Amino acid sequence: MNVLITGGAGFIGSNLADALVEKGYSVTVIDNLTTGSLDNIRGLQERANFHYINDTILNEDVMEGLIKKNDCIIHLAAAVGVKYVLENPLTSIETNIKGTEVVLRFSNIYKKRVLIASTSEVYGKHMHAPLKEDDNLIYGPPSTMRWSYAAAKLVDEFTALAYHRTKKLEIVIFRCFNTIGPRQTGLYGMVVPRFIKQALRDEPITVYGDGTQTRTFTYVKDVVNALILLMACDKAIGEVVNIGGQEEIAIKDLAGLIKRLCNSSSEIALIPYDNAYGKDFEDMMRRVPSLEKLESLIGFSPNTPLDETLRATIEYFRRHPD
Ligand code: UDP
Repeated sequence: MNVLITGGAGFIGSNLADALVEKGYSVTVIDNLTTGSLDNIRGLQERANFHYINDTILNEDVMEGLIKKNDCIIHLAAAVGVKYVLENPLTSIETNIKGTEVVLRFSNIYKKRVLIASTSEVYGKHMHAPLKEDDNLIYGPPSTMRWSYAAAKLVDEFTALAYHRTKKLEIVIFRCFNTIGPRQTGLYGMVVPRFIKQALRDEPITVYGDGTQTRTFTYVKDVVNALILLMACDKAIGEVVNIGGQEEIAIKDLAGLIKRLCNSSSEIALIPYDNAYGKDFEDMMRRVPSLEKLESLIGFSPNTPLDETLRATIEYFRRHPD
């Protein structure tokens, strides 16, 4: 089977490419390296069943040729990371809406199954847990640019569902909660690689706000496993499904845990949101997924304990200090 991974040189995409190549799939990656990196796929370049195309998903001719040749498309290419989206609001909206539109349009023409990456951001500012796929969504005003990412991904979800309902296109939408592990970079805001790098250098660990906001974290290998099962899951077609971790942790406690696991002497510094992200920033104070639907569809949900996930990620950063 031939699989096209858009954004396959990124963090999740390259881990997925590794697993699929290992299983014998023929894997093609398209990535323009905006936030992805050739280092992530260097180990795959010699493999006969791996192909890499350096291009943007907005290049319609290239995308048409690739979608035509593959059996299944996993669409991960997107502008990601709170910091990146705040610094590049226009290109982020364009990539996230137009790019998905291109993927869906050609997938429909050639009738290919397509998995669309969405995000836990679409839930917005809920305080209840766990978040279920049919929950209402709560956003702040458009002057708070953070919500543009959620809104763009929501347009992607609507478009995919509309293709499914009107054209019978085989789509699956997966909402990724905070995913962590080897190859994630902290350059675009993601908290865990930032905290680990700070702890390993004995620099202050920068907790934004008062650190009481919570998240769950998912090991990327669990996400990859879930995606491979979803690819083959007929019951998932036309569905929106969460993929996330189980252990809720406050960000200040995460800082303490990473500090301890790294044997670090870093201080834990509370940084006001204004200093981190400028004015008009809103954080999401709580984010915990319901995994009931994922379990019922594929009989699996992410289960690697947080401290094991962090240990593996710390080990990676010790080996790749830069
Ligand atoms: N965060 C933090 N320090 C950092 C980076 C992030 O305290 O150096 C916080 C951020 O404000 C949020 C949480 O960590 O509450 C997760 O942030 P991230 O950008 O990784 O993902 P998000 O869940 O916000 O999309």
